[in-house]
Amino acid sequence: MTHWATLSRDQRHVLASELRASFTRLTSNRLALDLTRGKPGTSQLELSNALDHQMNGDYKSREGVDVRNYGGLRGIVEARELGGEIMDVPAANVLVAGNSSLALMHLVMETALHRGLWPGMAPWQESGKVRVFTPVPGYDRHFALTASLGIEMQNITLGADGPDMDVVREAVRRDASIKAIWCVPKYSNPTGCIYSDEVVLQMAELPKIAAARNFVVLWDNAYAVHDLLFPAPRLASLFAAADLAGTQRHMLQFGSTSKITFAGAGISFVGSDESVLKRIEEQLSLMTVGYDKLNQLRHARFLNGRLTAHMQAHAQILRPKFDLVAKKLHAGLSGLGIATWTNPQGGYFVSLDVMPGLAKRVVSLAKEAGLAMTAAGATFPYGLDPEDRNIRIAPTFAELDALEAAMDVLVICVKLTALESLQTA
Ligand code: PMP
Repeated sequence: MTHWATLSRDQRHVLASELRASFTRLTSNRLALDLTRGKPGTSQLELSNALDHQMNGDYKSREGVDVRNYGGLRGIVEARELGGEIMDVPAANVLVAGNSSLALMHLVMETALHRGLWPGMAPWQESGKVRVFTPVPGYDRHFALTASLGIEMQNITLGADGPDMDVVREAVRRDASIKAIWCVPKYSNPTGCIYSDEVVLQMAELPKIAAARNFVVLWDNAYAVHDLLFPAPRLASLFAAADLAGTQRHMLQFGSTSKITFAGAGISFVGSDESVLKRIEEQLSLMTVGYDKLNQLRHARFLNGRLTAHMQAHAQILRPKFDLVAKKLHAGLSGLGIATWTNPQGGYFVSLDVMPGLAKRVVSLAKEAGLAMTAAGATFPYGLDPEDRNIRIAPTFAELDALEAAMDVLVICVKLTALESLQTA
C-alpha cells in the first residue's frame, strides 16, 4: 500500500474520482445503516431468557429473605456475591441496586459534591471550584453527568495502558480543586484498552498524594467480564491495591449486568469501604424503600457458578462482528497513513482516529450515504474533540450483513475525506 501523503497530484485525482463514483453508487442505494448503538444484539438477549424461569414459586433468598417484600437496601447476599465476582471486590463490600450503574454514579457524584461520602469527608462544594480528570477519548454519559453538576472536566490522554499517570500524579499533588478521576479500566469505552498493573497500583495510591483530602477514584468497570478471548486478560485488583494503600474509602467501583443479561432489566453494583456503602445506603433510603430483590435473586440463580460460560456464549456472537470490523479497517485503510484504530479484546467499541480535522466531515458524509455514526466529538467532554479526529464504532447491535455494508461505507467516507484534505493541502 502506498502512503497517501506520497501520492502525486494526478494519482490523487484519479483515486478521488473512483471513490466519488463509489460514494455516489452508495447514496443511490438508500441505505439505513447504524453503528451508533452500544447495546447487545437480539441474539445476545436471547442468551438470558432463562431468567424467566428462575423463581418457580421459590421467593426466598439463601438467608431466608422474602424477596417479594420491601427492604434490604444493601441487596441480598447472593446478588452481592455476583457483583463481587464481576467487579473483583469481596461481597461484603458490595451494594446491589436497580438496573443502572449510571444512576449509582450520579448518586455518588452528587453525594460527594453536596454531602461527603464518609463521615468527616468535606463535601467537594466546600472548597469552591471542583474539577475532575476525564481520560479521553471516553464515555459521553460520564461527561454529561459531570457537566450537569457544574463540575469542570480536565482532559487527560488515555494510552494503551491507561491514563498518563505522570501527568495525573503531578496535577493532583499540586491542585486541590481536582477531586476525582473517571476510569473505565477494562475495555475502556471507546478505545478498549486495559489499565496496566502499574496504573491500577498508582490509582490506588493517588489519594495518598492528592492535595485534596476528599479525592476519589471513580472506577466504572462496565466491561469487567466482557471478554472476546479466553483465557481472558486480567485487570489487576483495585480493591487489593487500595487495601494495601489504606485508601479503600476513596475507591468507588461500579458494575452492572446490563451487557451480561438484559440491558434494560438487569441489576447494578457499587463497591467500596463499609463507611461509604453506609452513606450511599442512607442516601438511597431517601429515594426508595428497596430495589427489586426478585430480579437480584433471579440474576444470582441464573449466573452464579456459570458467569464465564455465559460470557463465552456472548463472545461467540460478538467475536465475528469485531473480527469483521478489524478486517474491513485493515483491508481498506492500513498502510495509507490516513487513520489508526484499536483492536480490542473485549468490550463494546472500536475507536477510530482519522486525520486531524476530519472526524465531523466523515460522520456527515456517512450520514449522506445512509450510515448513522455516533456524533464526532461525543467521546470528549462538552462534545469537543480538540483535534476533531476520533470516531466511535459500535459493532454489537448490527447483524453481520448490515455491519459489513456499514463498514464499507465508513471506509469510503474516511478515504474520500482524507483525499479531499490532501488535495487542498
Ligand atoms: N459505563 C460505561 C462505560 C458504559 O459504556 C455504559 C453503557 N453504555 C454504562 C456505564 C451504563 O451502565 P448501566 O446500564 O449499568 O447504567
